[in-house]
Amino acid sequence: MRTITIIGGGQSGLQLGIGLLQAGHKVRVVQNRTAEDIATGKVLSSQCMFHTAVQNERDLGIDFWSDICPPVEGINFMVPHPEVPGAKAMDWVGRLDHNAYSVDQRVKIPRWMAEFTRLGGDLVIHDAGIADLEDYAASDDLVIIASGKGEIGRLFARDAAKSPYEAPQRALALTYVKGMTPREGHSAVCFNLIPGVGEYFVFPALTTSGPCEIMVMEGIPGGPMDCWADVKTPADHLARSKQIVETYLPWEAARCRDIELTDDNGILAGRFAPTVRHPVGVLPSGRKVLGLGDAVCLNDPITGQGSNNASKAAAVYLRRILDHGDRPFDADWMQATFDAYWDYAQWVVRWTNMMLQPPPPFVLEIMGTACATPRLAQRMANGFDDPRDFFPWFADPAAAGAYLSELKAA
Ligand SMILES: Cc1cc2nc3c(=O)[nH]c(=O)nc-3n(C[C@H](O)[C@H](O)[C@H](O)COP(=O)(O)OP(=O)(O)OC[C@H]3O[C@@H](n4cnc5c(N)ncnc54)[C@H](O)[C@@H]3O)c2cc1C
Repeated sequence: MRTITIIGGGQSGLQLGIGLLQAGHKVRVVQNRTAEDIATGKVLSSQCMFHTAVQNERDLGIDFWSDICPPVEGINFMVPHPEVPGAKAMDWVGRLDHNAYSVDQRVKIPRWMAEFTRLGGDLVIHDAGIADLEDYAASDDLVIIASGKGEIGRLFARDAAKSPYEAPQRALALTYVKGMTPREGHSAVCFNLIPGVGEYFVFPALTTSGPCEIMVMEGIPGGPMDCWADVKTPADHLARSKQIVETYLPWEAARCRDIELTDDNGILAGRFAPTVRHPVGVLPSGRKVLGLGDAVCLNDPITGQGSNNASKAAAVYLRRILDHGDRPFDADWMQATFDAYWDYAQWVVRWTNMMLQPPPPFVLEIMGTACATPRLAQRMANGFDDPRDFFPWFADPAAAGAYLSELKAA
């Protein structure tokens, strides 16, 4: 039995903590908010999770929601026509092989905190600082920092080689609503790219009061969708969200006529720079700690990958810890554990960072071809579950050309 402390009880920290408890280890999770704080606080994310990540939860017996959460069954990509008002320049839809689900973290995290405690975990409600990390690192076999965007993650140095952006690339906003007209046909992440302005996507989810839809707005900084600074009340936030879709996306506005907020805390606005950090943190004493999830690999939400990544990282770390037996968790093991995750995550980071740039001509050609090629649309939809499948053809003009010729010949 190993003794392990995890700082941060979010998607990655609790998933890992529960997995370790189930394997017979002694686990402490230090969480800076109570379950009540989280359940009654502001929304934290839009957290759409695709099949592989949902399966990680099922494997641990902690997917408590798939039978009550409205499923996301596909990806619908749209671009408004630049010259014809109300028309679309692109519109493709691909079915997912397996449903995706978005369970409000205000629902999920308190339930997982209870499950962690039920399994015998030591849940400490405390905002951990460096002195606490020193204590835990002195007494325990391993300390993992899964603090999301929390300040304590700054102890991991930014990895400039893996982080092309120094500043936020989008002004983000979330609006959780009820009363939206469902998409015709099957449900989907309806992803609208508004050139020069930003992106708007919307999909069904489960919140504290039942099914809802989550509107996600990604405004290019300084542009017309970077428009949240003067929004002071929840009602203003809803009105601004509606105004955005009415201005740019009439087909989405038509779905929004009767929307209302799920609750006054169903809103969020903010921004952050996508950042990858060195995964081994060195405390003043020289002891080492290992970063997990957003603490060391923080992506812009444009591709909806953060919770998926957090889950996949937790699964990799769990396997690596269990495989390590009684040996010490030294810096080499920590680095190799992150590297095992990075083997996968590098592709997610690369794809996500590409999507923050205006699409190059060969990507526009891929997107245009997908409108008339269901096989390609389906492949792109399922790439959200495993973005490694986008490479090399979504990143390299020659590979894209070869793939498109192959599709045309088929
Ligand atoms: C606007 C927006 C939309 C998003 N949409 C999606 C999406 O559609 N799909 C998707 O997959 N991802 C999405 N994400 C990202 C996703 O929410 C995160 O990547 C994911 O929650 C990260 O999990 P984590 O475990 O690393 O951190 P978190 O889930 O953030 O958990 C960290 C926990 O640590 C706690 N903590 C922090 N500091 C301390 C401390 N010093 N002591 C104790 N506790 C501490 C925090 O309170 C928190 O509970 C979105 C994010 C945003 C901002």
